[in-house]
Amino acid sequence: MSILTNLAASPRVKGAADLARAALRTALDLALPPLCPSCRVPVEGRGLCPSCWSKLSFITRPYCERLGIPFAYDPGPGILSMEAIADPPSYNRARATVRFDGISRALVHSLKYGDRLDLAPMMGRWMGRAGREILAEADALVPVPLHWRRQWARRFNQSAMLATAVSAESGVPIAGGVLKRVKATAQQVGLSRSERASNVQGAFKVPEESKGAVVGRRLVLVDDVLTSGATVDGCARALNRAGAANVDVLIFARVADPVRTAI
Ligand SMILES: [Zn+2]
Repeated sequence: MSILTNLAASPRVKGAADLARAALRTALDLALPPLCPSCRVPVEGRGLCPSCWSKLSFITRPYCERLGIPFAYDPGPGILSMEAIADPPSYNRARATVRFDGISRALVHSLKYGDRLDLAPMMGRWMGRAGREILAEADALVPVPLHWRRQWARRFNQSAMLATAVSAESGVPIAGGVLKRVKATAQQVGLSRSERASNVQGAFKVPEESKGAVVGRRLVLVDDVLTSGATVDGCARALNRAGAANVDVLIFARVADPVRTAI
């Protein structure tokens, strides 16, 4: 093994190389316009190009007041979906900004894996709007935690990035560290609904020393994507068990097939 590869393998030099890369990226960022995270054309300012922006599918009323899933037709105000009544979640209300589709997936993936942390303020602003009602009644935001091993590998938690942006937008503070992921769960991708539920069973816990920040408080869980809802449901169950007064959920993008049946 050459000296160079030996050096590259040492953690300190790897850190220096990361720094050099980050500095180079900043220099390039100053010189080159950022790219649209979805179609990769250069854009003015930050975020999506106008064409991708116009194709984003924002979630608006009418939707189920509990689950936040859009109705295919307007059943009238305050109506719950059959799903919410047949299988009520552990949280009170969920709100999401956009449907999870090609463009919102590109935003989520750019934030999560593409070092596009600059997208978080824009995404958080949209979330602030979608969650206005639940944020107005909230005491604190709780980002869905990663297991420490995954956070170490990824270097940051995308839900915490979004929560920081939502907090800046709404003025609702973040209750950091009140929820811990105590079980390293398998990736939810490719699992069925019931497999997802058992995958997160017992995965979240409120540490004894954090209970004071949870008891009697109205909390809003923040996450990037909601698929089956098993993850936020597991988080809400842990917060309720620790004595939270109310748990709502605010998501950037959700898988949302319109609900046809309302009660
Ligand atoms: Zn684009």
